Amino acid sequence: MAKKPKTVLSLCRATGVLHLGNYLGAVRDFVALSEDPNAECYFGIADLHALTSLTDPEKLRPATRQVARDYLAAGIDPQQSALFLQSDVKETNELFWLLCNVTATGELLRSKTYKEMSDKQPENVNAGLLMYPVLMAADILGPQADLVPVGDDQITHLEMARNIAKRFNHRFGETLRMPAPYRKSSIRVPGLDGKGKMSKSDGNGFGIAEEPEAIWEKLRVAYTDPARQRRTDPGNPDLCPIATIHRFVSPKDDVEKIEDGCRTAGIGCIDCKKILHGHLSDLLAPVRARNQKLTDGDVSDALAAGATRVRTRFQETVATVRERMGL
Ligand code: SF4
Repeated sequence: MAKKPKTVLSLCRATGVLHLGNYLGAVRDFVALSEDPNAECYFGIADLHALTSLTDPEKLRPATRQVARDYLAAGIDPQQSALFLQSDVKETNELFWLLCNVTATGELLRSKTYKEMSDKQPENVNAGLLMYPVLMAADILGPQADLVPVGDDQITHLEMARNIAKRFNHRFGETLRMPAPYRKSSIRVPGLDGKGKMSKSDGNGFGIAEEPEAIWEKLRVAYTDPARQRRTDPGNPDLCPIATIHRFVSPKDDVEKIEDGCRTAGIGCIDCKKILHGHLSDLLAPVRARNQKLTDGDVSDALAAGATRVRTRFQETVATVRERMGL
């Protein structure tokens, strides 16, 4: 396959089923990027990173495979893009160690994520938490990525990868490509419990390949503006997660009708949710259809092919880095 002008690398956490928030906030953009004829995309699932806060080894492999399956269901074509598990790329570990030697310890100790994670799991402040940004730098610099889709929470890690590349190039000569951020859409999908964003750990969302009936059962009981005790009470859509999700997935006319109806008590919450359910069902129908056709073998084949492709890129980088470092 001919090399395309820009290389895109994205790593996602091995969290299991992808929910609507993952889809609207990231995966939908990845599918669009993967269809760009100028972009060669590598989508990794960060199972090595998951070890820094591992609680149950039995759950990690199924969670990892589920993410791969959902990526394929969402529309990532494994013929076009490489979908891989981070742990299948053995070269990452070697590059990680090589890069450790051009990484400033002070920068790692000052990392906001390290401090946050140490506070979150004080009983397990392992060295992996500290070294996490170097592993991420290896993930990014190994395939010589030009663009890395990042949200606000990951921008500092990309900055550290750039610092590591800069330091390496300064010391050993121009070798590592400088990755640039590709800003992901800033869509923040609220949880159906009205308590912040949709998240797997809070169980306040639904999977992108779930059946419409199952999604409806969750929408039906979702949090709404508490001021609407009765059908005749007016509400405030700005206080309701259902209205926010409408803004992301429903046509403009429907959004206006619903917001006006909410404020004037012209529409009830169940009818409002039914309209949203209809739009969600349409949006996710292709995902569901692809998921129904996917087999375990398809997922394994995609991951094997993706690992082979990304390893080839890593091998070139590692060989040059080794040589420049005198090995
Ligand atoms: S009518 Fe819709 S937007 Fe208004 S409170 Fe009910 S569910 Fe929320």
